[in-house]
Amino acid sequence: MDFSILGSGGCAVIPKPLCRCRICTEARQKGVPFERGGPAAFVHDENILIDTPAEISRQLNRSDIRDITHLMLTHLDPDHIEGFRVVEQMTIDFRTWQAFPEKTVRLVLPRQLLESFRKVSTAYGSLVSFYEKSGFLCCEPFDRKTMIGDVQVTALPVDRGDQVAYIYVFEKNGCKAVYAPCDIKPFPEQDPAVQNPDVLFIQPGLFETGLRHGYVYPDDHISRTTLYTFEQTVALSRRIQAKQVVFIHLEEYWHRSFTDYRALEANLDNMVFAWDGMTLTINKRGK
Ligand SMILES: [Zn+2]
Ligand SMILES: [Zn+2]
Repeated sequence: MDFSILGSGGCAVIPKPLCRCRICTEARQKGVPFERGGPAAFVHDENILIDTPAEISRQLNRSDIRDITHLMLTHLDPDHIEGFRVVEQMTIDFRTWQAFPEKTVRLVLPRQLLESFRKVSTAYGSLVSFYEKSGFLCCEPFDRKTMIGDVQVTALPVDRGDQVAYIYVFEKNGCKAVYAPCDIKPFPEQDPAVQNPDVLFIQPGLFETGLRHGYVYPDDHISRTTLYTFEQTVALSRRIQAKQVVFIHLEEYWHRSFTDYRALEANLDNMVFAWDGMTLTINKRGK
């Protein structure tokens, strides 16, 4: 399987608008890989786009992706769906204001997530219904497992109370990739579906040192209920025996540059920090 990380940033992109910190200033000067857009990935095998951050149009334009047939969303937080209008832009025929029929995107979502997404509204009513009517997308809800071409997808819900986020497991030809960018605590590590992946794409969790203004997270900070610490994430990755780990959803407020992450990688086996445009071929040896 071939993956691209189109955006390696988190809910605040790098450079963060207006910010003059060391990390954002450097990113503004140097661009990618110091610059990081919102979280999105692409599975080349079946042209599956995962998530649509605000920067998705730009991310697609700088990649050489020519076709998107399937779209999946991990959850409905703005940093993952703000750019959803890309579906309209990719498919619309302005002569008719309908989609070119061959360009209709298949929205493949866990049933419960699709039901929630149908409630997201625009001036034209439900966004999903409007897009269906215009032929921009068709909905393909599924329960725990589905096949997209030759790729098997398993959806694992992470219940956050008011919303559910999903971890997706992609499998093909005996290779397994787990995609877990955001809102992954409690991680379903007892589920065999996530165990022994060739690649685990996961957010690094919370860094407790080196933060801006010398900030120290108090023991009872709300972020601790939604995020593991970085050390806990590394330990989790080892417990599920991930052969390779790629950290994604890298937040501006971790206050670490591309160079800082490179230095951190040197002390970690088989763990790397993603950058925008990173591509990865997953084979049985986890390469
Ligand atoms: Zn900054
Ligand atoms: Zn997120």
